Amino acid sequence: MCALALKDIRKTYGDARAVDDVSINFPQGELTALLGPSGCGKTTLLRMIAGLEVPTAGTINLGGRDITRLPAHRRKFGMVFQSFALFPHLTVRENVGYALTIAGTPKAEVVARANKLLDLVQLKGFGDRQIGQLSGGQRQRVAIARALAQEPEVFLLDEPMSALDAKLREEMQVELRLLQQRLGITTIVVTHDQREAMTMADRIVVMAKGRVEQAGSPQEIYQWPATGFVAGFIGRANFMDGLAENGKIRVGDVALALPKPANFVNGASVQLACRPEAIRLDAAESVNRVQGTITFVRDLGPVRDLHLDTPIGKLVAEQGADQGRNHRLGDTVYLTLPPEALRIYPRVPAELQTGMDAK
Ligand code: ATP
Repeated sequence: MCALALKDIRKTYGDARAVDDVSINFPQGELTALLGPSGCGKTTLLRMIAGLEVPTAGTINLGGRDITRLPAHRRKFGMVFQSFALFPHLTVRENVGYALTIAGTPKAEVVARANKLLDLVQLKGFGDRQIGQLSGGQRQRVAIARALAQEPEVFLLDEPMSALDAKLREEMQVELRLLQQRLGITTIVVTHDQREAMTMADRIVVMAKGRVEQAGSPQEIYQWPATGFVAGFIGRANFMDGLAENGKIRVGDVALALPKPANFVNGASVQLACRPEAIRLDAAESVNRVQGTITFVRDLGPVRDLHLDTPIGKLVAEQGADQGRNHRLGDTVYLTLPPEALRIYPRVPAELQTGMDAK
């Protein structure tokens, strides 16, 4: 069931379109991540969902009701923003119960509800503390509890982990996801961090330049990026520019085969993408096998990146710790790009490419 639906939402500032005709359905009880690079319009979109900005065009529908112009305080949405903005002069419990107090809820009920929420975010016994006596992670949990106090219909979070260090951020991602699943609350998280989106989300909406590039499950998006931009933004990809030729793709002097003949007219300019972990290094005869010279070895512990100079360009191949230990700088090797691992796209404008740099 769809809890919240955006239809043709647009937001312009002067001539610039911060959000450009975006339509997204947010299923009931699911966590959706809005993911994209800085300036792609995710915060602007979230602020329109929250009722903090009015769209220039389009509609926002909640459970069949048009709420496009409903002000924020009349939407039952919980919000956590980048800076948690807790009230420093109030205790933890008073912070959590703040909205209920303002709404005139009897004190005993506020205390009971706040205590229950503090239990939920694993802060039992912290109710009487001052905000200044909490760690970053604990403050973040208070902000989450506060946002949940009014039993929101939709939970909105904008880069909620950005103030936390890397280790704590990963812990909090798991914690937040488990909490969201337990409560079954429709949740939207804005992030520019693909690992954060992959960790928490049922669905990821990838945005670029105010538009939706792709929406799908984390695995769908990783395995089947709809555009070259998505292939480079989610995970890593080797990109090769080529020309369609009789169902194959010619890159330099090499014609690379695809799982089925490419559906492009001869001479069409295309881009191929291949994940580094999909490239195989072995001597066996195979299709799409080329020779390469190792120009750099990057040992990352569980995996090794081999940077390679090949007739189809500079590539990076990722090897498991148990493979290719004997490969050394300067070695000549055979590498295979399995046809089923190749993704093909119309050539993407350079400014939208986010591939990786091979040495
Ligand atoms: P970040 O991750 O850096 O926060 P974002 O994806 O959330 O980026 P937005 O903050 O939504 O991006 O901004 C989208 C575009 O709209 C940017 O180009 C930004 O400069 C512009 N923009 C946002 N708010 C305003 C405003 N109030 N007035 C003018 N331009 C704005």
